[in-house]
Amino acid sequence: MTADPPWTVRLAAEFRSRFGHAAAPRVAVAPGRVNLIGEHTDYNDGWVLPMAVDRWVGAAFARREDRRIRAYSRVFDETREIALDGIAPPGGSDWFSFVAGAAWALRSAGYRVSGIDLAVDGDVPLGSGLSSSSALVMASMLALCEASEIAWAPVEMALLGHRAEHDYIGVKGGVMDQLASVLGREGHALLLDCRTLETDLVPLPAEAAIVVMDTGAPRILAASAYNDRSRSCREAVAELRGADPGIAALRDVEPGFLEFERGRLDDTTYRRALHVVEEMSRPFALALALAEADLVAAGRLMSESHASLRDLFEVSSPELDLFVELARRQPTCFGARLTGAGFGGCAIALVSAEAAPAFADEVHASYRAEVDLPSSVFICRPVSGAHILDSTS
Ligand code: ADP
Ligand code: MG
Repeated sequence: MTADPPWTVRLAAEFRSRFGHAAAPRVAVAPGRVNLIGEHTDYNDGWVLPMAVDRWVGAAFARREDRRIRAYSRVFDETREIALDGIAPPGGSDWFSFVAGAAWALRSAGYRVSGIDLAVDGDVPLGSGLSSSSALVMASMLALCEASEIAWAPVEMALLGHRAEHDYIGVKGGVMDQLASVLGREGHALLLDCRTLETDLVPLPAEAAIVVMDTGAPRILAASAYNDRSRSCREAVAELRGADPGIAALRDVEPGFLEFERGRLDDTTYRRALHVVEEMSRPFALALALAEADLVAAGRLMSESHASLRDLFEVSSPELDLFVELARRQPTCFGARLTGAGFGGCAIALVSAEAAPAFADEVHASYRAEVDLPSSVFICRPVSGAHILDSTS
């Protein structure tokens, strides 16, 4: 059972009145995600531990008999249209490009996509690092598959969703976000190997809650810093290959080896590589701690990860550090860290479930006393991945 987002009924009604359809549309939904640990490891062929959360993007849809896509966004209050056969990269970076990109990626894999009317809406905060873009891409792709009678193969479709964001939109991220959005499972996080795409489900203990703390700070530096950090990682690999040609990515580097070959790297590159190499083992360690319901160990790992992102990888911000610090001052908090690429966006805290509502109120009040930004704090729940709603009437 999934608790369907209440706004999907409103979305279905909007679809009918806006496009003049008599019949009720079907609705595809896809969740956003938080990454519990394993930050900046995905594009280094490593492991991550994301969790699909109960914030969704929905797409109400009906097939069209011509070869056009027509879509309405409630958030932007805008209708856009494009001929399927005319979609080619590079796409833009506006909301409609995520919809068109999903169609382009399906077609580039040889699927026959039919025309579609879509209305999209959602409650994943936009641009906060909870991956609203991937939720939009995957909800659009599921709608397109249903309308075109293409069988839904979750991993393949996540890879195509990644292609849409990577090659059509041009955002050079890893595949974690799309995989989390389709493979999420109620009550579980997902231990994901970004090289082999193998996944393991990790239960979130009932006595634990994950609280999202959205700084409200714009991620102005995020794109350029992201590219800068991934370049550092590639440079580290190029230098370390001089000592061992078998190294294809930082995943292949042991901590002892990095220490031994440290002289090959300048100090900044070394510290960035050190973060990635040490962070590689944290998804396993956290998965184990959660499976054993050892919240003290789990929280310690999250706090260590934050310190490493702040001091070694240097992708934190004053607002993220403040939220993490305020969270850790609360006795009901086991640990906290920034989540996502950094430079603004969200932090998360691991908190005892029964104390989570009071924790959220107190931490948010303390943050607001110091920072005047449109911040928010909320408890999130692990949910199942993209699916078609049973009924919206
Ligand atoms: P993030 O994925 O971290 O939320 P991005 O910058 O990658 O941030 O993606 C945000 C963009 O995704 C928005 O600017 C918008 O174009 C699109 N988007 C996300 N959710 C929606 C939505 N509900 N309706 C329309 N567009 C959306
Ligand atoms: Mg995104």
